[in-house]
Amino acid sequence: MEFDTIAAISTPMGEGAIAIVRLSGDDSIQIADRLFNSINGKKLSEVPTHTIHYGHLVDPKNDLVIEEVMVSVMRGPKTFTKEDVIEINCHGGIVSVNRVLQYVLKYGARLAEPGEFTKRAFLNGRIDLSQAEAVMDLIRAKTDRAMNVALGQMEGRLSKLISSLRQEILEILAHVEVNIDYPEYDDVEEMTHKMLAEKALYVREEIKKLLQTSEQGKILREGLSTVIVGRPNVGKSSLLNSLVHENKAIVTDIPGTTRDVIEEYVNVRGVPLRLLDTAGIRETEDIVERIGVERSRQVLKEADLILLVLNYSDQLTTEDENLFEAVRGMDVIVIINKTDLPQEIDMEKVKSIAAGHKIVTTSLLEDKGVDELEEAISSLFFAGSIEAGDMTYVSNSRHIALLNQSLQAIEEAIDGVEMGTPIDIVQIDLTRTWELLGEIIGDSVHESLIDQLFSQFCLGK
Ligand code: GDP
Ligand code: ZN
Repeated sequence: MEFDTIAAISTPMGEGAIAIVRLSGDDSIQIADRLFNSINGKKLSEVPTHTIHYGHLVDPKNDLVIEEVMVSVMRGPKTFTKEDVIEINCHGGIVSVNRVLQYVLKYGARLAEPGEFTKRAFLNGRIDLSQAEAVMDLIRAKTDRAMNVALGQMEGRLSKLISSLRQEILEILAHVEVNIDYPEYDDVEEMTHKMLAEKALYVREEIKKLLQTSEQGKILREGLSTVIVGRPNVGKSSLLNSLVHENKAIVTDIPGTTRDVIEEYVNVRGVPLRLLDTAGIRETEDIVERIGVERSRQVLKEADLILLVLNYSDQLTTEDENLFEAVRGMDVIVIINKTDLPQEIDMEKVKSIAAGHKIVTTSLLEDKGVDELEEAISSLFFAGSIEAGDMTYVSNSRHIALLNQSLQAIEEAIDGVEMGTPIDIVQIDLTRTWELLGEIIGDSVHESLIDQLFSQFCLGK
């Protein structure tokens, strides 16, 4: 394929001292040569591939130095885009890197659209679609674990799995073909049915497994929605503060800080939490009063985890009991705070009302018990089917939708087999499953879908 030469700033804005202007396309090296004066006088078109060169960017009109730079020359196809790639490393901040970009654009490159580098990698066959999407997830990944998932996907784990499933289906389809071509052989038909049933069931189970990981994938990307509840003054705000201060707050670009509840993103031992601070409201303005019973019920209902705070130096009240009632059936950790004060709470009563939920005692004032709480959070989360790192989390909504459609198609095929539907009808559902799975890895995707996907990328990626 042939494309023009694109350029963009490829480092995150404001991050680090070095910024990179990246070019990709046939004219990359030529454009760089027009602007770059190497310290040793060499032309970039003559240097070996994958080498770095020190020198100055110079305005061709008046020979004035624009910037001190290092230029990397990487000739295709051994590059991310499979095209010739130039990377101009500038020391200055955003102003100087912008200036370099302007020169590059003036001398022949076109400003890349968001995601266009990755799009080219895809269109040039360097990566498949799910890998391209993984790059996008990587850019957005908010925690280390989410990062690992994205990386795993990029290495093609999902692609491999999908490919092997499609291979299974192809084998069935091949048998079906034989069956249709030689209908007179009874044993072929019998075999086909048996094999069909077996393989189709296997494919269905694998698709289901993948779908099961998707919920966890969502949690990893968006954070475990965690709501802190408790009567006024028990220490909700204090809890939020200590969780935020002891853990690196995750910087997020998700717009979501609502008027009613304050959100904070933290990474607790690898578990990304989206903390919903219902306590970010004046003590006198009870959360339920303020946002209304319905609304707070809704917040609770959508939570993945509840941190229910009680006061150690106060007796249990009906209000506490109502809270337990409201969060019944959910994942709850009970926190008994203010252990530095004299005990008033009846622990036996708490235990019975907590009904098996993990109980942690804290004195947030004295900074005690937070470690235990963090431990409780992470073991609750990882006690599930999640095995860090070695599972394929499906975390992309397009993948999830396609997997659901594939599941439906394979189930129709299975129903067909079970009801003795003519095999060439079953074949249609099988083919459809195969196609839908193919869409996940970018086979049989339409141009418009591709454009839409890649436009979601950050600039310069
Ligand atoms: P909220 O209304 O549930 O959000 O409670 P706050 O976090 O605002 O705390 C209410 C009051 O209790 C504040 O004065 C805190 O300093 C105090 N507090 C919080 N945790 C503790 C604790 O562990 N021990 C003691 N003695 N006071 C605490
Ligand atoms: Zn408070």
